Amino acid sequence: MNTSAAPIPSEQHTRSKMWYVTPDNKPRGFIRSHALEEVWLHTGTACNLACPFCLEGSKPGDDRLQLMRFDDAKPFIDEALALGVRQFSFTGGEPFINKDMVRILDYALQHRPCMVLTNATTPLLKRALQLEPLRERPYAVHFRVSLDHFLADEHDKSRGEGMFAMALDGLCTLHDMGFSVSVANQAIPGLSANQVTKCFAQVFRGAGLPENLPRIEFPEFHPPGAAVAAPQITQSCMVDYQTESTRREFMCAFSRMVVKSNGQCKVYACTLVDDDADYALGATLAESLQVSVSMKHHRCYSCFRYGASCSEMKR
Ligand code: SF4
Repeated sequence: MNTSAAPIPSEQHTRSKMWYVTPDNKPRGFIRSHALEEVWLHTGTACNLACPFCLEGSKPGDDRLQLMRFDDAKPFIDEALALGVRQFSFTGGEPFINKDMVRILDYALQHRPCMVLTNATTPLLKRALQLEPLRERPYAVHFRVSLDHFLADEHDKSRGEGMFAMALDGLCTLHDMGFSVSVANQAIPGLSANQVTKCFAQVFRGAGLPENLPRIEFPEFHPPGAAVAAPQITQSCMVDYQTESTRREFMCAFSRMVVKSNGQCKVYACTLVDDDADYALGATLAESLQVSVSMKHHRCYSCFRYGASCSEMKR
C-alpha cells in the first residue's frame, strides 16, 4: 500500500457520484491507505450527556450506532493484529455506558496499547474499581478526557451543571490510579494558543495534576448529517497543497473505525465520517484498505486545512 495522489481506481461497489467528483465535475482528492496502524472501535452513540455540538449526535438512549459487544469487537481486534495494527482506540458516545467495555479493553490490552475517549463522569467513575486490574496488563491504556473549556461555566453550558467538576474529578481519579491521561478541548475563539495553554495549566495545577498535561484541541465538526458548506478538495489540491509526507498524516491513511449499526459491524474510513454511508468501506478491515478514501465529507476540509486528527499515536 502507498499513500498516493493518483486517480481513484475503479471499484466494485456503488457510491454517490459526489464520492468521485466535485459539484463542478473536477476529480475529487482522495487518500489511499499506506498501513493499518490504529484501529478505532466505536462503542455506540449512547451517552449519559446530550451535548448539542456532539459530532456523533450522542445522547442518552441513542442507538444510531449500536453498543458494540465483546463478540462484535473480538474478530476485528484479531484481524487488526494479523494486519499489523499498533494501537486500538475507543470512542463513543460514552464508552463506559457499554457494559462490555472493560472486557473488550482487557482483551485488547493483552495485545496492544489502547486509548479511550471518555467524558470521565458517572459511567467511568462507577467502573473505576473494574479498571484497577488493567494496570497489570502487558500493554498500557491511556485515557483522553473531554474538558471543553478551562472555565467551569462554559463547559457546563452544554454538558450540564456540575459536569466540569465531575470530569476533573474523573481525570484526577485516573491520574491517581497511575493511568496516562490527556485532555480534549474545543477551539476557544478570541484567545491565543498561549493564553489557552496558560488557563488550562492553572486548572490542572489547581486540581493537583501536572500543569503540562497533553491537550488536543478540536475545531467545530458540526453534528452528524449537518449540511455544511466547506471548500471542495480536488485531486489538484491534494498535490499542490499536500505532499507524500503530509498525506500520510491523514487518519484515513493509517487507520480505520469499526462501528455497529442495524445489527451489523462495518468498517468506516475514520472517526469523522460515520454519518455518510459512502464511507462504509467494507465488512472487514482488509476489505476496507482496498478502497481509496474520497475527500468529499465537509470534515475532510478540517484535516486538509488544519491537520485535524483524533489520533494521539506517536508515528
Ligand atoms: S475526515 Fe479526514 S481522516 Fe476522515 S476521511 Fe476525511 S480526510 Fe480522511
